[in-house]
Amino acid sequence: MPRLAALLQQVSLYVHLQRLDDDLAAEARRAGCECGGRLHSARYPRKPRGGPGEIGAGIMWRQSFCCARDGCRRRVTPPSVRFLGRKVFFGPVVVVLSALGATLSPMRLHRLREIIGVSLRTLKRWASWWQNDFASSRFWKAAQGRLAPPAPTATKLPGALVARFDGDEEKQLISTLRFISSVTTATARNSMAL
Ligand SMILES: [Zn+2]
Repeated sequence: MPRLAALLQQVSLYVHLQRLDDDLAAEARRAGCECGGRLHSARYPRKPRGGPGEIGAGIMWRQSFCCARDGCRRRVTPPSVRFLGRKVFFGPVVVVLSALGATLSPMRLHRLREIIGVSLRTLKRWASWWQNDFASSRFWKAAQGRLAPPAPTATKLPGALVARFDGDEEKQLISTLRFISSVTTATARNSMAL
């Protein structure tokens, strides 16, 4: 199994990502609502798929907040490195399988899909999401301006994006997840979620 894919079976990856999500949530809470109001927790349960057996069956919490001020009550959902929009699989699973989907032989890709539990149909839907929804999102358009050398073309996403970050495969994966973590929140009104 490619090293990047082996990471998806390591509980330590998800523990690390959970900690990063806690930090992102704390930051959002400190910033408060746009109206100046305080934020109360309005987290909701998720049961993301594709993680290792030990955590695969458990419920996880997607941090979310609600403005405490009457008349506002705005919902604020912080960026996340574990959840990519409303996709039912973990964010790292979506990134890794999409990246490897473009490089592995059909046989090896089939074996990997079996292990993680991702259908070919789902993988194709993700590919379309990267190339269309993600590539045309406000988030990606803004992000492209910050990348030098220039951002990879849509058809090379997300593999070429992962390869842009320094370090071993785990660092590259986590950096990618951090980089795209605000994609859900930045474009929530832009039907980014699948
Ligand atoms: Zn408010």
